[in-house]
Order: sequence, then C-alpha cells, then structure tokens
Amino acid sequence: MTGSSSHYPLHASRSTLKQKSQLESIVADYNVIVIGAGPAGYVAAIRSAQLGMKTACIEKWKDTAGKNVLGGTCLNVGCIPSKALLDSSHHYYDMQHHYADHGISCDNPKIDISKMMARKDDIVGALTQGIVGLFKKNKVTRIEGAAKLAGGKSIEVTAQDGSKQTISADNIIIASGSVPVDIPVAPADHNLIVNSTGALAFDAVPKRLGVIGAGAIGLELGSVWGRLGAEVTVLEAMPDFLATADRKIAAAALKSLKGQGLDIQLSAKVTATSVNNNEVTVSYTDKKGDAQQIVVDKLIVAVGRKPYTADLGLENAGIKTDERGFIPVDANRKTSADGIYAVGDVIGGPMLAHKGSEEAVMVAERLAGQKSEMHYDIMPWVIYTHPEIAWVGMTEEQAKDKGHKCKVGQFPFAASGRARAHGDVTGMIRMIADADTDAVLGVHIFGISASELLGEAVLAMEFEASSEDFARTIHAHPTLSEAMHEAALGVDGRTIHA
Ligand code: FAD
Ligand code: NAD
Repeated sequence: MTGSSSHYPLHASRSTLKQKSQLESIVADYNVIVIGAGPAGYVAAIRSAQLGMKTACIEKWKDTAGKNVLGGTCLNVGCIPSKALLDSSHHYYDMQHHYADHGISCDNPKIDISKMMARKDDIVGALTQGIVGLFKKNKVTRIEGAAKLAGGKSIEVTAQDGSKQTISADNIIIASGSVPVDIPVAPADHNLIVNSTGALAFDAVPKRLGVIGAGAIGLELGSVWGRLGAEVTVLEAMPDFLATADRKIAAAALKSLKGQGLDIQLSAKVTATSVNNNEVTVSYTDKKGDAQQIVVDKLIVAVGRKPYTADLGLENAGIKTDERGFIPVDANRKTSADGIYAVGDVIGGPMLAHKGSEEAVMVAERLAGQKSEMHYDIMPWVIYTHPEIAWVGMTEEQAKDKGHKCKVGQFPFAASGRARAHGDVTGMIRMIADADTDAVLGVHIFGISASELLGEAVLAMEFEASSEDFARTIHAHPTLSEAMHEAALGVDGRTIHA
C-alpha cells in the first residue's frame, strides 16, 4: 500500500461534480456512503473519514436479540467467533492430551458449552461495540437500516421500523459481503443441517458430526467439535486435500488432522441427505465410486460462500453482476456506474477479511487522490487448525508452471528448540525461491503459530526479498522464527540445525 497523506479536496470535488452533471445535486449529503459494515465496509468508512471525507456507513445486520450490529460476517459469525471456539476447544484438547507431558494432571476435565458460547459472544460483543467507538472517534455517521441504490448516487435506506429516507453521496462504496452456499442435496434446516453460523452456536457437542467440504470452514469447525469429543467425518468432493496449498504441506496437514481423529474422505460426492428421528443420513459415493452412508447428529454444510447483493437495487444504477453473482469492478474497484465502487467478498477473489479491508483502504485513498494499490499475489492465507496452515505466494508447482526454476529450503519444527520446549513439533516451513534471482516466490508453513510466523514472510515478499535476505537477518534464539531463518538457509543447502 503506498500513497501520500493528502486530504480529500472537498470543494474541488463538488465543483467538478457540478461541471460534470447539472442534474446531480451540487452538495450531496455525504462525500462517501458505504453500504455494509463488515471488514471491507467499516474500514472503507473509517479510512474515508480519516482523509477528510464526510462519510456515512449503512448496516442492516441484526444480532439474535434483534439489535443492529456492526462488523458483518467476520465479527459476528465468521473469523472472530470461530477463533474464540478454536481457542477454547484447543485448551480442552490440550488438557486431555498434552498437559500430562508437562507433569500437569487434571482429573475428569469437563466442558460447559453454554459458558464457552457466552465467552465467544462476549468477545464478539466487545469487538462489534469497538467499531461503534471507532466510528464515533473518526466521525463516521452510522446509519442503521437496509440500503438500496435508488439511481444516480442516491440511496434509499429502510430502517428497522419500516421508515424510509433517501440520501446522496459523491461516491458510494458497496461492501455487502457474502453468504453461505446451499446445496440441493443437503438443504439447511438450521437445526440438524446447518451452515457455519449454526455450527458456531451448537448448544451441545454432537456425538456424530458430518461436515460437507474440507475447506477453511470445514476444517476449522470440524476441529472445534472434534476436539470437544464429536466423531467427525468430513466429506470433500475434490480428490486433492487443500488443492491450492503446497503439496507437501497439505499431505502433512492431512496426516496430522487424521491423527487428531478427523475422518477426512476425499473424492466423496454427497448424493442425498435425509432427516429422521433427530439424525441425518448422508448418502455419498466414495473415491472408488461405491455408495456409502453415514448417520450423524448434526451436519455442517461448508462448501463455500456466494456474493450477497439481494435487494441492493443494482439494477437502478445499471450495474449487472457476473455469471457467479459478483459485482464486476475495474482496477480502481469502480463498478460500471460512475462514482460507485465495490470491495470485499462481493467482488470476488479470495474471500478473506484482510483482502476486503485492504481494498477498502485502497478505494478510500484513491478517492482522496492518492495512488494506493495492493498486491493480490502477496496475499496471506491461514487455516486455523492445530497446528495452523499458512502460506503466501506461489507453491513450488505453481512457480514451475509459471516457468521459474525453483530452489526449495525446508526446515522441520522437530529441529526447533522453541517448538520442542512448547512440546509441539509437528510440521515444517518451506521456502520457494527462484533459482536464478533468489527472489522468494512463496513461503508455506504448517506448524505452531504459523499465522504469526507468516507475517515476516509477507512483509519480506512485499519488499521483494531474496532468500539470502532472510538468511542474513538475525532471528532471536530460541524462537519459532528461527525455523524461517533455517528454511531460508536451506534454499542454498546450508541449514545449520537439520
Ligand atoms: P461481510 O463481512 O459479509 O459484511 C457485509 C455486510 O454488509 C454485512 O454486515 C451485511 O449485513 C451488510 N449488508 C449487505 N447488504 C446490505 C444492505 N443492502 N444494506 C445494509 N447493509 C448491508 N476470513 C479471514 O480472513 N480469516 C478468517 O479467519 C475467516 N474466518 C471465517 C470463518 C467463518 C465461519 C466464515 C463464515 C468466514 C470467515 N472468513 C475469514 C471470511 C470473512 O468473514 C469474509 O471474507 C469477510 O467477512 C468479508 O468481508 P466483507 O466486508 O466483504 O463482507
Ligand atoms: P472453501 O471454498 O474454503 O471450501 C469449500 C470446500 O468444499 C472445497 O474444498 C470444495 O471442494 C468443497 N466442496 C464444494 N462443494 C462440495 C460438495 N458438494 N460436496 C463436498 N465438498 C464440496 O469454502 P468454505 O470453507 O465454505 O469457506 C467460505 C469462505 O470463507 C472461503 O472463501 C474462505 O476463504 C473463507 N474463510 C476463510 C477462513 C480463513 O481465512 N481461515 C476461515 C473460514 C472461511
């Protein structure tokens, strides 16, 4: 992300607008209106306001008590609640399986699911309320209600009580996000067959849990309930496990997750589900094509998410979605309509909170005349299993496909003193470098704290680092980050500790 800190030329903008179109009101209600307050929308609103633009953000999300809340999918039913439950369940699993190694014993550990859920809800509440504070601090006007494009740069807002108002802006940023994909063979009844939102709110540990889809959600939520005692079967349609990850990392992760008790079946095609006597029968064909069935107490459908544009009035602004429902945008994230931009899950690409937030910053700064840009090829990916799976950049296979000659450095956490001290030595770091230029093309981690370790690699790649840059950088001892240093040394065959 680059750019100067110049402020939005408020008056210049309005006079330009006047010259461009006498039909538009000379002074719009706001310089920027953002639709949606997820990680793309609330960041767009805050950054726009920071740059001196008069900004409003419209959000319609209601929590289970019917109260309007900010934060979108990520804070309410996504990134944050899932990580809260991953942490709670990890403590429980560790207590049962690893505390004894430390000489700590605990007879008959118990879980109180309602307390675990209350803790999760408190975390969500604190963070969503935090955005309210950030809006106040940055003078973003919060508007509660459903936004609908009303033609030109006007938006009709319907409040919870049904009352309507129309407001206008110089620029509109759509950040309406995404919702879970449903599949006809497993329609959610939101009781026994649920999507990720339901799976974050079970009131008891299901004895038998089925998960359709071994993507980020399937693996994270499958892990949560598996650690708490559910027998988990994950049915994945594709033949490859985590097809976009490094092959060696994916193989190590699959072995580790299976070792934790997740029964992950690849090439499993679900053909039907039926609900009877409070259980779900899932019929599928296995990798040999043979018909199989499992019976489970809950079934999570986690087969991806789709863009959410319902009742947004895109047609009123002349905006057409693409064949998959995403809003098409240009390099500036501008839609086909003048002055209307879109960011986050609703425009496609990786459906990641940080991707939406960075797009939001870029659009706000460009509206303020800066030249900000972002590098989609240096996108961090993390799956918060235990250990975590994290990567940035190309896999060895992708690099070779793109014509690079590759050198690969690899270092196992089993050879890391800090990982040993933690008692958590699963996994490795793999660094892929170009054999001619030594530029680092990708870093792939499976291991303890992979999500945090990845930050070093992302930053280094933003600065176009070589593996030699990593190798010549002093890493503190004893830290997990020494494994990154050693993987870099390994690119040239000079690893010290393995
Ligand atoms: P959203 O967060 O979906 O927000 C869109 C907002 O727009 C919503 O609040 C919606 O109510 C509002 N809206 C829509 N239409 C209107 C309208 N007409 N009027 C007013 N408001 C409207 N990503 C990660 O990077 N890391 C993770 O660890 C991670 N974990 C996840 C775990 C789960 C279980 C799930 C489901 C997702 C996870 N994600 C994660 C994905 C992440 O949540 C999304 O990529 C992110 O929330 C997208 O942000 P967004 O702002 O584009 O959309
Ligand atoms: P996903 O795309 O990550 O995974 C879906 C999986 O389901 C894929 O492996 C796919 O092959 C499989 N699948 C699709 N249809 C199927 C079928 N009919 N039967 C069996 N398997 C099928 O999607 P997700 O896990 O639902 O997550 C949705 C989005 O949320 C993703 O874009 C993801 O990036 C994001 N997310 C990110 C994180 C994170 O960053 N840690 C966590 C959760 C969600």
